[in-house]
Amino acid sequence: MENCIFCKIVNKEIPSKFVYEDDDTVAFNDLNPQAPVHILVIPKKHFASINELDDEKVMSALFKAVKNVTKKLGIEEYRTVINTGESAGQTVFHIHLHILAGRPLNWPPG
Ligand code: 5GP
Ligand code: ZN
Repeated sequence: MENCIFCKIVNKEIPSKFVYEDDDTVAFNDLNPQAPVHILVIPKKHFASINELDDEKVMSALFKAVKNVTKKLGIEEYRTVINTGESAGQTVFHIHLHILAGRPLNWPPG
């Protein structure tokens, strides 16, 4: 989708290093990490948020990518977050799954 920063990352219009890639997803480090490990997993196809995500292949691909990227990096304990909507903290409207690890993560979050 035009003017979507994450579509530009997928299309390599913005150069970025992928920590993981498969047919349906890519993963890369967050620009503004909130933990020693802060990775974003996104589908190559544009969906604004969970609310628009209607492709079951992509849904399962996102979970598979989380398993593959954490396994690849040797991370067994981590938090996954998906913010949906502005009031929930979503700032980029191309669905993405945060993977956070490498420090104690309190629950409930602030
Ligand atoms: P949200 O707040 O929408 O759940 O998460 C968006 C995340 O994308 C933020 O953690 C932010 O730091 C990250 N981000 C925004 N723009 C870029 C970018 O151009 N490159 C990368 N690697 N991360 C970005
Ligand atoms: Zn997009």
